[in-house]
Amino acid sequence: MEKKGCSTLHPQSMCPAFGGLRVLTRIDGVQVCLAADQGCLYGLTFVSHFYAARKSIISPELMNVQISGGSMIDDIRRTIDEIALDPSVRFIPVVSTCVAETAGIAEELLPRRAGNAEVLLVRLPAFQIRTHPEAKDVAVATMLKRFGAFESDKKPKSLVILGEIFPVDAMSIGAVLQKIGVESVIALPGTALEDYIESGRASACAVLHPFYERTASLFEENRVKIVKGNPIGANGTGQWIRRVGEALDLDMEVVAAVADEEAAKAREVLARFSGIKGKVIVAGYEGNELPVVRLLLEAGLEVPYASTSIARMALGEEDHRVLSMLGTEIRYRKYLEEDMQAVIEYEPDLVIGTTSLDSFAKERGIPAIYYTNNISARPLFFAAGAATVLGMISGLLARKSVFQEMKEYFGGV
Ligand code: SF4
Repeated sequence: MEKKGCSTLHPQSMCPAFGGLRVLTRIDGVQVCLAADQGCLYGLTFVSHFYAARKSIISPELMNVQISGGSMIDDIRRTIDEIALDPSVRFIPVVSTCVAETAGIAEELLPRRAGNAEVLLVRLPAFQIRTHPEAKDVAVATMLKRFGAFESDKKPKSLVILGEIFPVDAMSIGAVLQKIGVESVIALPGTALEDYIESGRASACAVLHPFYERTASLFEENRVKIVKGNPIGANGTGQWIRRVGEALDLDMEVVAAVADEEAAKAREVLARFSGIKGKVIVAGYEGNELPVVRLLLEAGLEVPYASTSIARMALGEEDHRVLSMLGTEIRYRKYLEEDMQAVIEYEPDLVIGTTSLDSFAKERGIPAIYYTNNISARPLFFAAGAATVLGMISGLLARKSVFQEMKEYFGGV
């Protein structure tokens, strides 16, 4: 829906298909076959090399003549056969994007196997899937629908952790889960086809990011319990550990002891940073911004405005309620213009935003950092995550005057 006063003339988010490619290109033995026009191929190859698995994408040449000339499906099938000549390729996702003809490819016209590889159509049209986080959900759900061993018996005390996380967070989660008696953990989006097969046998799934709603429904429909939330901040940490314990029917005495211990460690960190004061705006497009805001609020910072590219979703409702109660104005499916307006209105001491918003803030002498490179590239969970994020923020707030001096210096040139 168009928002008043917001531009529709420039893209407000990166190409959604990128999110799906990020999930798919990381799987061992994969070779993506992209069914898109050459313009999409150019951009998506570029971003996938930089931000995904540094793998090339193969595509049939789909220019107007092939798309409208009726040879498209034969071209795609021929490309699949060529890819499958390589015996090391085990999986060929055929990714269709925005061009109407490719978005509407009939799955029945594609093979299910070629050479040593499984072939799977993954539809990622931007007109339907609006953002790259949501495209990750579509890719994971499509994979699970085909490969998940949902018909098998469930493995007790086995958990799927759903959501891309920083490697240190994965290690901390693993250590805590082991302490409370979880016997097996599978991380999705995974790097092996087997991760998707095995996930169907898990008893519960901890959904760390709110945009995995299709995947969460699929798990629920197949008797896998859903654990909401994430171990961010003191309250979130304790609550998350207890929820995992309940979902997997673990020894709740042990679980409660670990939950209290981890929450206390996080609380100590929050107390250590209780002296930091400031007004922060958080405006990313990764879809996991609200739990970060929750951490900042728990540490006593003021967050008058937060925005994200994704829609308001049921899995994010708890955070929505807490943040609204504490006075944060939240924008979903945000426009850059709304974020800029918030910078003008709230005059923050720090912006954690997108690159365009950061430039806008810096021109005003306000410290600003890129959410994706600074938040998504750091641990966030448990006490260690809180210490890392709050340490970085307190450092930036302390150097606020430097940005003002820079503005004055360059303003005088
Ligand atoms: S046309 Fe669609 S698939 Fe192609 S680059 Fe743009 S948003 Fe992405």
